[in-house]
Amino acid sequence: MSDAAMKLVVVGAAGRMGQTLIRLLHSIEGVTLHAAVSRPGSAFIGKDAGEVAGLGPNGVIIGDDPLTAFLHADGVLDFTTPATTNEFAALAAQARIVHVIGTTGCSLDDEAKIAAAARHARVVKSGNMGLGVNLLSVLVEQAARALDPGDWDIEILEMHHKRKVDAPSGTALLLGEAAAKGRGIDLSANAVRVRDGHTGPREAGTIGFATLRGGSVIGEHSVVLAGEGELVTLSHSAGDRSIFARGAIKAALWARDKKPGLYSMLDVLGLSQN
Ligand code: NAD
Repeated sequence: MSDAAMKLVVVGAAGRMGQTLIRLLHSIEGVTLHAAVSRPGSAFIGKDAGEVAGLGPNGVIIGDDPLTAFLHADGVLDFTTPATTNEFAALAAQARIVHVIGTTGCSLDDEAKIAAAARHARVVKSGNMGLGVNLLSVLVEQAARALDPGDWDIEILEMHHKRKVDAPSGTALLLGEAAAKGRGIDLSANAVRVRDGHTGPREAGTIGFATLRGGSVIGEHSVVLAGEGELVTLSHSAGDRSIFARGAIKAALWARDKKPGLYSMLDVLGLSQN
């Protein structure tokens, strides 16, 4: 592995996560902010990335051309939108650089395109880049494996700030996948993502989701295991976006000397049980 600092591009540089990444990149050893990219037409193009992030000027001017930004970089940190992430996955694969994807709300088609890019590129993708939620997912999988689905119902509850555009959250789905894996079932065939009106009784074996939106909440998640006469609740509370940004930077450094492939944060954190 190279000893030189890893040159990272932050895309979505003016976004909530983009700004958090730019602030954090300055305080972590072994990485450097190589370029910052925003949406074409954004009012932030031409502005100093450090200034936009509240750090003071850092000399990196926000651009709108990912190709130029990726050219001499080692990796890209991407918390944007599914369409943008799809486009960047192909560009990052062409440039042979690490692509860390935090973007949520990707469709099955988006996931297939990202997996195709990962045949040639090192991609780390997770609905949650933090240590706590990934650890929680391991516990949820264990609990779901241990508890009989005929006797125990699983419900996943999440709350986020009012500007979040996708639901359920990437983290809620990640936790749902962990529960489904523990039960040996397919989440998409067993998830109940919305309830409204006369729904009838709860179907045994399903995994339910409930979504709350409001205020400035960064991320609250609970997995409720409901049995006759008792409840087990496993939960996580995010108090600061830097937990996700720190994880994304860790993922980039980890992937630097890996073979092409699609990796998760469980791989990065050594929590993978496969
Ligand atoms: P945000 O809306 O504040 O930021 C997204 C940014 O992407 C915006 O600034 C937007 O202008 C920019 N963007 C859109 N299209 C672009 C393009 N073509 N080129 C460059 N930039 C472009 O949102 P956010 O709160 O920062 O979240 C971003 C994503 O990350 C969401 O999907 C969110 O759910 C996800 N997220 C994931 C984690 C995780 O740990 N995986 C944590 C927090 C947020």
